[in-house]
Amino acid sequence: MVEMRTPEAGRRLGRDLLDRVVAGGARSPLTHVEDVPARDGRPVDWPSWVPDLLVERLAVRGITAPWEHQATVASLAWSGRSVVVSTGTASGKSLAYQLPALSALLTDDRTTALYLAPTKALAADQLRALRSLVLPSLRTATYDGDTPPDERDWVRSHGRLVLTNPDMLHRGILPAHARWSGFLRRLRYVVVDECHTYRGIFGSHVAHVLRRLRRVCASYGTDPTFVLASATVAAPAESASRLTGLDVEEVTRDASPRGGTAFALWEPPLTGLTGEHGAPVRRAAGSEAARLLADLVVEGARTLAFVRSRRGAEVVALSARRHLADAAPELADRVAAYRGGYLPEERRALESALATGRLMGAATTNALELGVDIAGLDAVVLAGYPGTLASLWQQAGRAGRGAENALVVFIARDDPLDTYLVHHPEAIFGRSVEATVLDPENPHVLGPQLCCAAAELPLTENDLALFGESAARALLPDLVRRGVLRHRPTGWYWTGRRRPDVDIRGTGGEPVRVVEVGTGRVLGTVDAWASHSTVHSGAVYLHQGVSYVVDELDLAEAVALVHVEDTDWTTSARDTTDIRIVSTLRERDAGEVSLHFGTVDVTNQVVSYLRRRIASGEVLDETPLDLPARQLRTRAVWYTLSPAALERSGLEWVEVPGAAHAAEHSAIGLLPLFATCDRWDIGGVSTALHEDTGRATVFVYDGHPGGAGFAARGFDKATAWLRATREAVAACECESGCPSCVQSPKCGNGNEPLDKAGAIQLLDVVLADLER
Ligand SMILES: [Zn+2]
Ligand SMILES: [Zn+2]
Repeated sequence: MVEMRTPEAGRRLGRDLLDRVVAGGARSPLTHVEDVPARDGRPVDWPSWVPDLLVERLAVRGITAPWEHQATVASLAWSGRSVVVSTGTASGKSLAYQLPALSALLTDDRTTALYLAPTKALAADQLRALRSLVLPSLRTATYDGDTPPDERDWVRSHGRLVLTNPDMLHRGILPAHARWSGFLRRLRYVVVDECHTYRGIFGSHVAHVLRRLRRVCASYGTDPTFVLASATVAAPAESASRLTGLDVEEVTRDASPRGGTAFALWEPPLTGLTGEHGAPVRRAAGSEAARLLADLVVEGARTLAFVRSRRGAEVVALSARRHLADAAPELADRVAAYRGGYLPEERRALESALATGRLMGAATTNALELGVDIAGLDAVVLAGYPGTLASLWQQAGRAGRGAENALVVFIARDDPLDTYLVHHPEAIFGRSVEATVLDPENPHVLGPQLCCAAAELPLTENDLALFGESAARALLPDLVRRGVLRHRPTGWYWTGRRRPDVDIRGTGGEPVRVVEVGTGRVLGTVDAWASHSTVHSGAVYLHQGVSYVVDELDLAEAVALVHVEDTDWTTSARDTTDIRIVSTLRERDAGEVSLHFGTVDVTNQVVSYLRRRIASGEVLDETPLDLPARQLRTRAVWYTLSPAALERSGLEWVEVPGAAHAAEHSAIGLLPLFATCDRWDIGGVSTALHEDTGRATVFVYDGHPGGAGFAARGFDKATAWLRATREAVAACECESGCPSCVQSPKCGNGNEPLDKAGAIQLLDVVLADLER
């Protein structure tokens, strides 16, 4: 990625900036300020195999020597070892994979290389960076949904360094591999950039797309070396191996220099108001971020605020503009919102305003996290945990200009994980415990992928090991029975006339379009599964700061019809969930407490929604909804407590449901610390007596068909996970439960019953047995 570094003298240090914007009040919202020190780089000599021409061209771009980690990665790859580099933002991961790939292309004109990015924007960035090296013999080109048909022919026949994405590889390149045979026959390197983004269901699909690529290459006699680049995560080699199916080496020691950062952890103060069930209410992270964004802009700091939701980004930008209208009216229109889901032309206009500095501040969602060429900001504000530590560092990395100190402020939302993090700085600044989780053996992924593979080349016995021998063997008879594959002595054949239609980003069904009644304008799209809870009839939907109300959610047409309406209330959906155990795959029997991992059936139905006054959070009314129940066969981790264990906990029988429910909520909140999932990717059910276990049971399940590996990670890390859960609950300053510890915004039972003290008693018993 190219970084824009505008040399500007006299920048203030991050700490000074922080002092100016933290109002001197009774109680500072800061729980911790970490001075992430500046680091000197460790340059080394160019490896001897790098051609002089490349060394010269890099020198023109100001790169006179590689950092140690870049040279290590490059040399491993050059020797044919697949390798993953897992280092911080702006540590020069690109050069690490460019060196071997470009050297190979320059020294052997029969060689080709393939570069995969998770987004088109990132591939476009990479193309610009490569073209700036002015190496015409490389014949570098992107091949994606934007490539015009006449150019596609040229890329296939002449491209030597092709930049694409997994979607295009899956839909465009592999099914037409015969037309790519010239390219694939000479393929020496496959670069997988930002590989930590391949997680969950999408990651599991990508794992098979890469296996398919390897199999097709093998049929043309090539065995390319993979070079992967990842953000800092736990166990990068293990994740990269699961992603590629190859034995992958890891390089994690970052030898690039970096400027210092003052990294502040900020817990919004209590407002003195009470919310649901009398819980204390904190100032919202979004309001704090809006104020901070405005204050930083007033201080002359170019600032980006990351907000988790689309809606949140709109609200933060709007309210920052409102603050500025009072404090510095000339700056008010220099702050804007930027989020995913905008139409391309809206997005481009905002991007260019940010790039030129016409905008001083922006509130954005994770849409800006990858692939957009914005770095060198003075300050970054994170309103709420972005879901993964990798994202947190990626976003924080947008701040900093060369040797200057930058400011990063992480504002906790009212949520157990955020609360845990602002009180446990070591979880952020210490060694990462978060791993990139995916599960290629998910039958809902593997089945369709085996069909894609068979459609490309018949599947043979020898291929099965590549796709996960036992899982594939278990699925094939069913695919044959359903008539999609035919089994012959030479292998399994795809029977369809057309290619299998498999959506690798799919989380279930076609996305729902949000359409304005009257104008017919498409405002954006919403994931099919999420649509039941976000764009049901009566839901409030925000776009560009404008509030809409949904008239109708038409599931058959996958469209939500909305009209403009300015409301002073928000909506939140209610649902019911049942869970049945199908089979147990792994278990740890710790006596009175037992821990399990297995397959479950979850039945979920969104049944109603609440309208809440925005200002006070007061519930106005509840409206029933008529949406169908949905069934999900997935994976879950669960623990049970015997009557003797419950007795040891000191809980009365009537207290067990509230204790288990509170422990469940908080555990869901903390799992993302260990697995790259989102709180919304997982769900839970707890009960004092579950009919399948006959005991008090707490379930946490993967919210995607077949599971995405999150519950499995929970099982593997159960002790550390439940320990962090217990600490998050115990450390919260509220008396009897609040959103920072045990209340959940997605609770289908309206957060009832919840017993905070009981959750601690229950978890103590569970941990005493598991830790023994
Ligand atoms: Zn609390
Ligand atoms: Zn609940």
